[in-house]
Amino acid sequence: MPHDCLFCKIVAGKIPANRVYEDELCIVFPDISPQAPTHLLIIPKEHIASQAKAAAEHTPLLGHLLAVAAEIARCRKLNRGYRVVVNTGEDGGQTVNHIHLHLFGGRPMTWPPG
Ligand code: AMP
Ligand code: ZN
Repeated sequence: MPHDCLFCKIVAGKIPANRVYEDELCIVFPDISPQAPTHLLIIPKEHIASQAKAAAEHTPLLGHLLAVAAEIARCRKLNRGYRVVVNTGEDGGQTVNHIHLHLFGGRPMTWPPG
């Protein structure tokens, strides 16, 4: 685990986060700067720097993250819809280099994204 990775520190409990969901593969917590009424981050416990580093061996894990997003959205009654985003790299707007899904809901989203 990279010592300077913010999300690895959250996984390890060295930086606090309100875990609204946790299993053996991932944790889910609110974004510190919410951009929608629901704005959660879904992150694997394993350090993967970004979507650009995803490999075939990560397929079950990445599928699991999407399934968790769907389950949380159902639990939170986001029946009108929601958005899942994986910012990737500099042009993708990624600021934390540990792969994560944003789950946005509770308001209409616009398209195209900025
Ligand atoms: P991204 O810009 O896609 O890499 O997303 C990183 C997200 O992490 C941003 O939306 C930040 O607001 C969020 N963030 C940064 N530090 C924390 C933290 N300590 N707890 C929760 N969310 C954080
Ligand atoms: Zn990490």
